[in-house]
Amino acid sequence: MTYRRQSPIVVHRSGRALEKAMGGDELSLEEICSLLSVRDPVLLDELFQAARATRERNFGDSVFCYGFVYFSTHCRNDCSFCFYRRSNQKITRYRKTDEDIIDLSTSLEDSGVHLVDLTMGEDPMLHHGNDYQRLIDLVGRVDEAVKVPLMISPGVVPKDAFPGLKDAGADWFACYQETHNRGLFAQLRPHQDYEVRLSQKKWAMSSGMLAEEGIMIGVGESIADRARSVQIMGDLGVRQVRAMSFIPQCNTPMACRDHALFLEELVTIAVMRLLHPDRLIPASLDIEGIRGLRSRLDAGANVITSIIPPSMGLAGVAQHELDIEGGGRTVEQIESVLDETDVHLATPSEYASLISGWRRELMSSEAGP
Ligand code: SF4
Repeated sequence: MTYRRQSPIVVHRSGRALEKAMGGDELSLEEICSLLSVRDPVLLDELFQAARATRERNFGDSVFCYGFVYFSTHCRNDCSFCFYRRSNQKITRYRKTDEDIIDLSTSLEDSGVHLVDLTMGEDPMLHHGNDYQRLIDLVGRVDEAVKVPLMISPGVVPKDAFPGLKDAGADWFACYQETHNRGLFAQLRPHQDYEVRLSQKKWAMSSGMLAEEGIMIGVGESIADRARSVQIMGDLGVRQVRAMSFIPQCNTPMACRDHALFLEELVTIAVMRLLHPDRLIPASLDIEGIRGLRSRLDAGANVITSIIPPSMGLAGVAQHELDIEGGGRTVEQIESVLDETDVHLATPSEYASLISGWRRELMSSEAGP
């Protein structure tokens, strides 16, 4: 881990912001920046400790784990950070059949995950005009085959596709903005509409699905951009908030950039935990594999994501191969890491009851007084 000495004035200012956050007071943008800037070793320990205590107050010693089925790596978009961008002609892409997707989902459920996340690039076979029936049918078939909740991450879909996806059995909708700085968004996601992407989360929630928002760390954003994203994620009302480090991918315009310092992701996770105490916050295995799990849990994360069954020909997103084929991203491996910590995997019913409570809240707030 990289630590940097900071001036006593900066440390003092950050310490005051930390006290305020721990007291549950609302923080100004400047105070959030000050927390996100913590690099002093003593204050970092206090920040992470406070994040863990906040997690414990809200979730006890339970954490959750999600299986990941990246079922199509075809994509119509050209995001500058992404290995699977349309212009990358030097890769072998795959598209799993419905039967494979169902088998993968049931095998993840049998392994003990709390949720199955069905993710794809914006595959032109499924993003076909305004007709999303093929995707809706797929979600319905997987929902019939598994009992655990489903998350879908299909990219940007039209507003009128949301009710059908929800009725087919999708409990969650994930769609990461990556940044809430519009200029940077245009560079990261060229020719994509900022507002329409942001609206995905709102449309999902108004259809009765829970939503996840996420940002990428180390893509050229400032600390103030990160702070604004933390605020916006709170204002959106999403129940899961994510920060993941940028990892440069070959054959992309950002291939020669440095990867983010993982400490910056950890600090962002801790600050999100303090400011959004009752939200789910992922510790993704997609960045450093299983070896990065402990530090993310120590920063206050409480959902282990990107569990991928080995030997099934599946890829990750940020790290398309890391720890997958060797079985390093399995529930078994996770449990061996958790044995050394103060947290343990929740039961499936704990997770189901958490999200059904949230969905009831969502439905009653949508129904109005
Ligand atoms: S980030 Fe998603 S939408 Fe963008 S190119 Fe990659 S797979 Fe496609």
